[in-house]
Amino acid sequence: MTALSAGATIGILGGGQLGRLLSLAAARLGFNVQIFCPEAGCPAARVSAGHITADYRDADALAAFAAACDVITYEFENVPVDTVTLLAQAGVPVRPGSKSLTVSQDRVEEKNFLNRCGIQTARFEAIAQTSAIAPALEALGGAGVLKTRRDGYDGKGQVRIVTGDDLAAAHKALANAPTILEQLVPFEREISVIVAQSVQGETVCFDVPENTHVNGILRRSVVPTGLADAVETRARDAGKQLIKALDHIGVLALEFFVLEDGSLLANEFAPRVHNSGHWTPQACQTCQFEQHIRAIAGWPLAPVTRYFDVEMRNLLGEEAIAPELDLSGQDQLTLYGKRRANPGRKMGHVVRRLGFAESKPPITDKG
Ligand code: AMP
Repeated sequence: MTALSAGATIGILGGGQLGRLLSLAAARLGFNVQIFCPEAGCPAARVSAGHITADYRDADALAAFAAACDVITYEFENVPVDTVTLLAQAGVPVRPGSKSLTVSQDRVEEKNFLNRCGIQTARFEAIAQTSAIAPALEALGGAGVLKTRRDGYDGKGQVRIVTGDDLAAAHKALANAPTILEQLVPFEREISVIVAQSVQGETVCFDVPENTHVNGILRRSVVPTGLADAVETRARDAGKQLIKALDHIGVLALEFFVLEDGSLLANEFAPRVHNSGHWTPQACQTCQFEQHIRAIAGWPLAPVTRYFDVEMRNLLGEEAIAPELDLSGQDQLTLYGKRRANPGRKMGHVVRRLGFAESKPPITDKG
C-alpha cells in the first residue's frame, strides 16, 4: 500500500486511554480517527472524529467500520481475533495483524512463541485442571505465579502460590480457568522494550525504561535505567527479533525481568503502545503514539531521540482527583477523561523531567 495522506481515516478498535492518546497523535498528523468500541462516551471517542458504538462481533457494524477506514489498528490485545479477520476480509489493512493478537492472547502460546524466537522466559507449565498444579509447583521449585491463560491484565487473574498453600482455593479464585503456572522469578528489577516496525521493515526502539509494579499494576517508569549497555542491547535485540517474527507493523512492548547477574527473562509482550512508554510524548522527539500512527499509515518511522531523563507515575483511582504536582514546571499531567475513579483504575499519569540542575527528586509514593 502507498502511504496514507493527511485527511485519510484511521480506525481504532478499543476506546480506552491508549486509543485516546493514539487518536490525539493521529489528529496532529492530519488524520481523522474513527473509534470502534462497545462503550458509549468512551475516553477515545470523546477526542475523535467518529465513533461506532457496537459489539466487537457485530458483523454489520464492522462492515460499516471497514468501509469508513483506510487502515485499522487496535489499542488492546483482547479484541477477538475473528473481528480482525473479518475486517481484513473486508479489504481494509489491519495493522498489526491477527498474528500478534493470537500469540499474545494466550500466555502459554506467548511463552512458547518467545522461546521459539530464542527469547528466554521463566520456566512454566500449562495447567488444564486443579490436580496438575501440585506436581507443576514442585517441578518449578515450590513457588510460582498461577495466571489465567487468557484475559488477565493489571495483575488481575493471577495469584502467587507456594508449596503448602490451598491450591484448590487458588485455582477457584481464578474461576478454575485454564491457567499457566510460572516459576516465581527473583528479579532485581523490571524493564521493557518499546519497539516499532514500519511497513518497509525498518525498526526503531525507544530508550529502555525501568518499571515498578505494585500488586501487578505499573506504578512508575524511569529512564535511564542505569543498567549496563550490554543488558539493554540484549533486551532491544530481543524486541526487534520478536517484532520481526510476528510481522508486526506498529509499536509493541516486550517486558523483562532482570536478574541480579544481568540475565533477562521475558515476561510478556503487548501488541500495542504501552503504559511504560507514556513518558515519550514529553521526553522524545517522536512519541510512541506518533510512531505507531506513522507505522500503520505506511509512513517512515521518525527518530526517537530522548531530550532528558524522565519519570512517569501512574495516577490510580482517586489519586487523579487532586494529584500532587510540582508546579514549578517540571511536571506534566495527562488525564484520560474517565468518569468513574474505581480503586486501582488507571485515570491518568504525571511525567516529571529529571536530570536537570533544578529538577526535583523523583516522585515517591506515600506509604
Ligand atoms: P503480568 O500480568 O504477567 O505482566 O504480571 C504483572 C506483574 O506481576 C509483573 O510485572 C511482575 O511484577 C509480577 N510478576 C508476574 N509474573 C511473575 C513471576 N513469574 N515472577 C515474579 N513476579 C511476577
